[in-house]
Amino acid sequence: MKVTTDNGIVGIGEAGLHGVTEAAEAAVRTFGRYLVGKDPLQIEHHFQFMYRFSLFRGAAVGGAISALDIALWDIAGKHFEAPAYQLMGGKVRDKARVYMHVGGDSVEDLYASAKAAAAEGFTAVRFTPFVETDDQQYYNMRYSAMLSEAVSRVAAVREAVGNDVDLCVEIHRRLGIPEAIQLGREIAEFRPFFYEDPTTPDSNESMAEIARNIPIPIATGERLHTMWEFRELLQQRACSYIRPDVCLAGGLTHSKKIAAVAESFNVGVIPHHNPLTPISTAACIQIDACIPNFVLQEYTGEDKPPKSEMVKEPLRLEKGYLEIPDRPGIGVEINDEFFATHEYSPRPINTPLREDGSVADR
Ligand SMILES: [Mg+2]
Repeated sequence: MKVTTDNGIVGIGEAGLHGVTEAAEAAVRTFGRYLVGKDPLQIEHHFQFMYRFSLFRGAAVGGAISALDIALWDIAGKHFEAPAYQLMGGKVRDKARVYMHVGGDSVEDLYASAKAAAAEGFTAVRFTPFVETDDQQYYNMRYSAMLSEAVSRVAAVREAVGNDVDLCVEIHRRLGIPEAIQLGREIAEFRPFFYEDPTTPDSNESMAEIARNIPIPIATGERLHTMWEFRELLQQRACSYIRPDVCLAGGLTHSKKIAAVAESFNVGVIPHHNPLTPISTAACIQIDACIPNFVLQEYTGEDKPPKSEMVKEPLRLEKGYLEIPDRPGIGVEINDEFFATHEYSPRPINTPLREDGSVADR
């Protein structure tokens, strides 16, 4: 998404709405009507204006405000000829450590994928200990079989990468409270760096109950939109790391505040990376650069085709760290040719069902 100023500066941003993306696009157009003719450098004012205008909020509105906010910071950076992080207090680190997605349906494939990532120089890998598919059979496994398969996958990844690579175990909200507690205890011996979204994040109290009963750290927060939601999550001691999504939780303006709320709890930030493109990566890196409590950045290989082709010059990755660019704004430019030759395809609606026909979470 682009915002153009009357003197020709183009700012880019992206909305992180994994579900109904069309709704975020519509909200961008609505807010666009407000922004026309305004001073793009009054970023905080525009954030407040858009956030408080519509009374009702949620992912579509949050995604749209985030996209526009990122674009305004990109414009401000280009106007002042400085990276966005420079305008937010300056950088506190020279590069950002990332964790790479690995996976495979079989344990062997998962093992090989993790080993390859370690050989490439990544110092942290993320995987789910369940087969990621809409295939019903995986949602119908019996309790003991499901947990033992999950434990064997975590064991395989630890064996593949040794102790010099951290394990990020993503549960994708798949477990109930007793299941999440049991699995958390069983995989503790493999020392996961974090245990992500062990259950649905609808209730902080449920997440806190799991956190109290397992000896490994929980990371959560990718669906939250505001610093007030994060504050309540932290007040309930429901996690050890928070995962705001820069493209959903209010762009750079609000994500920086969310990080400060976490800092006051001595909690680290592991930014979620929802659209998984080099544009959202670049937005995340601006925050990673300037917050003291940054821990790890989610990454899925945006430096390689086809994703790298979305921008003219993707951020460079070296030995598991992303560069913090010194280019103005958010540091990347959209490659128009890529978007002219790739069509938008709506996300299929395919929520998995259990064997009795009831709907499983994902
Ligand atoms: Mg996640």
